[in-house]
Amino acid sequence: MAAIKLMQKRNDIKVFDRIILLGACLLGLLLPVPAGAAPDARTVRVGVYDNPPIVSAPAHAPPEGISIDILKWVAEREGWRLVYVADGFDQLLGRLDRGEIDLIAAMGYSEERARRVQFSQQSLLGNWGMLFRHAGASIESVPDLKGKRVALMRGGTHTQALIELAERFDAAFTPVYVDNFPQVLEAIVERRADAGAVNRVFAALHAHYPDLVATPIVYNPVYVHYAAPKHADPAVLAALDRHLAQLKADPRSAYYESLRRWLEAAPDGRTPRWLQWTLAGIAFVLALAVMFVAFLRRQVRHQTGELQRRAELLHAEIREREAAQQHLKKIAYTDSLTGLSNREGFNATLARVLDDIKGTPARLALLFIDVDRLKNVNDSLGHGAGDQLLKEVAGRLQSVLRSHDHLSRFGGDEFVVIVGDIEKNTDAELVATRLLHSLAEPFHVGPTQIYSTASIGIALYPDDADAGDTLLKHADTAMYQAKALGGNRYLFYRAEQTARVVERLTLDTRLHQALDRNEFVLHYQPIVDLRRRTLVGVEALVRWNDPERGLVMPNAFIPVAEDTGLIVPLGEWVLRTGCAQLKAWQDQGRATGMRLAVNVSTRQFDGQRLVRSVEQALGHTGLAAGCLELEITENVMLVMNEDVRASLDVLREIGVQLSLDDFGTGYSSLSYLRQLPFHALKIDRSFVSRIPGEANDIQMVTTILALAKGLGMETVAEGIETRAQFDFLGQHGCEFGQGYWISQPLTAEALAQLFDQPLQLGEKA
Ligand code: C2E
Ligand code: MG
Ligand code: MG
Repeated sequence: MAAIKLMQKRNDIKVFDRIILLGACLLGLLLPVPAGAAPDARTVRVGVYDNPPIVSAPAHAPPEGISIDILKWVAEREGWRLVYVADGFDQLLGRLDRGEIDLIAAMGYSEERARRVQFSQQSLLGNWGMLFRHAGASIESVPDLKGKRVALMRGGTHTQALIELAERFDAAFTPVYVDNFPQVLEAIVERRADAGAVNRVFAALHAHYPDLVATPIVYNPVYVHYAAPKHADPAVLAALDRHLAQLKADPRSAYYESLRRWLEAAPDGRTPRWLQWTLAGIAFVLALAVMFVAFLRRQVRHQTGELQRRAELLHAEIREREAAQQHLKKIAYTDSLTGLSNREGFNATLARVLDDIKGTPARLALLFIDVDRLKNVNDSLGHGAGDQLLKEVAGRLQSVLRSHDHLSRFGGDEFVVIVGDIEKNTDAELVATRLLHSLAEPFHVGPTQIYSTASIGIALYPDDADAGDTLLKHADTAMYQAKALGGNRYLFYRAEQTARVVERLTLDTRLHQALDRNEFVLHYQPIVDLRRRTLVGVEALVRWNDPERGLVMPNAFIPVAEDTGLIVPLGEWVLRTGCAQLKAWQDQGRATGMRLAVNVSTRQFDGQRLVRSVEQALGHTGLAAGCLELEITENVMLVMNEDVRASLDVLREIGVQLSLDDFGTGYSSLSYLRQLPFHALKIDRSFVSRIPGEANDIQMVTTILALAKGLGMETVAEGIETRAQFDFLGQHGCEFGQGYWISQPLTAEALAQLFDQPLQLGEKA
């Protein structure tokens, strides 16, 4: 058999290695032969195959190997009679299934096999697959296997593993199946295969041929066990386990002796006995020779070099795998847009950091950052612009952090920073302030300038929580509160905030019910002609008549309604109700020529929805379009897109008036102002409240008035609370105004009284 020829060739090369061993054999032969098995011995039929040095089954000699040594040792103590059945591994598996044998002497553990056979608990040895090639094949990594012929032991532990590994790399090869490991090497050396897989133990002892090269491919670590049929009496395996456990516990036991014998000195046991005797004699002679010692030293050096080379290959492979794993991990943990960590990356980092500082006095802060208005940019300028902005935001945030602070993006417009080394709360405050400042300058997205602010919630470890997820939840809650307070600020977590968030959530539910139960009411605030002092219109202002709390003002619920989208149906209700009221007054012959101003949230501009609801409100009530004015806050500029523009144009075409509410407080672009069909500006009451005393505000108001005039727009001043304000505005060309000095917002009935009498100014201030 070619395999044996190969073995013998190797025997020649390594004959001196063996000499020592044969000395040992000689000693062994001198020892008394073990007594035969007892007559009532239990017969254990052991399947053996060629997988040296764990087990091998030479054609004309008894089987041997580590597994056999242990078996014999156990058999002697248990009174077993061992009967060997030599066959190919695959065939042995079949025999085991059919109950023709009681054990297979060595089988690599796998879960799949564990479903088919019973494994001993104790393993004989750890092992893994190695790939060898002939000198002419270029195979350095798994992908190189594509299309190659690879020799594999039929049914072997590493066989299926290699096929699967290659599939994962899309490197399908042609398997050349053989029955045992020696045949694998034979197939390679004879170039019937380009490469072949054997296990490392076998390889260390037998894979030494001039034409045989180890590839860096190492895979599938497995443990070798004894295997019994699935439903066999467990006594045999139990005895093996018991003895193996004992043997493994003692470094001087027969187990280690066998390992040393088979792994270190590489016997193959196929040398005829007469030769052993002869060589044993030579061994004694040579053992005395100094040259022999020198030779051995050289051999050791050579072996050590070889081992080192293999260790390096193994390390290189491990490093390569680690690098690949790191790479995959990095992809899984990275936000592809900004290159920052994503939520998973954040979780992993936080867990690690918390683990590191657990039990130490170190503290840290989590900063939960929500960047305002990013969603608007996506809606108005498209996702490309939104992405660009996000990248810039990420860059700015990162630029003010220290290298060991960890910034991640949670998706959307949420970022989280882990700030280590916190000594005092002010350290976290400092970072939060720097983050807020970093966003202060406008962002440039194409030709558009965008102003952005952020809300930051801060939670401290261990003060607020010591578990990562609770800490994050608290930082989120604090952020939510910071946002509710108007944003562009940071807030530390306080336990009572959790209660407030819950309150906000219940508020959302209650608002939905309120709309169903018709608990909203409209109040109307008169708008007057400042010069003529006549009533020209009313602004409809919504209130919630909460059965529990009484009349709730819009600032307490409009932001929530905007967040949750309830503002859309609520806004439609306001439109219908306001239009119906004005029409009712007109039908009574009152309020002729008067306009109704209705506040519209930017969220109501969803496609053509606003246009449709305005048309429906006008259609249902029969109110003339010219009597309706929509107040839209300046922030509409931030969501300006084709839909919004088209809606504004259509509304204007129908004849509806459009005014810009709270002018001067938000974001306006002069170029937009010129292009958009607004007919009036409403000067925010924050400017009005400080005239005529504050020079800056006077400047602001007169500038707005001049601007509106220049653009041909009307002006309405909000929040007139004093006669001085009323007079100043009138004198400086502001046409219209509203405010407590003229009238508070009134119920419909109260307002109706004003139709029948001349306007009383100043009394309600
Ligand atoms: P706004 O549109 O700027 O409405 C003017 C607000 O100023 C009203 O507050 C009004 O009561 C108040 N106000 C009027 N005169 C004076 C004054 O002389 N001094 C002071 N300090 N305040 C004065 P209100 O009714 O609380 O509404 C607040 C905001 O809620 C409104 O501001 C508007 O933005 C929003 N809002 C009200 N109703 C609706 C609605 O139906 N839909 C939408 N989307 N928003 C609404
Ligand atoms: Mg308004
Ligand atoms: Mg306003």
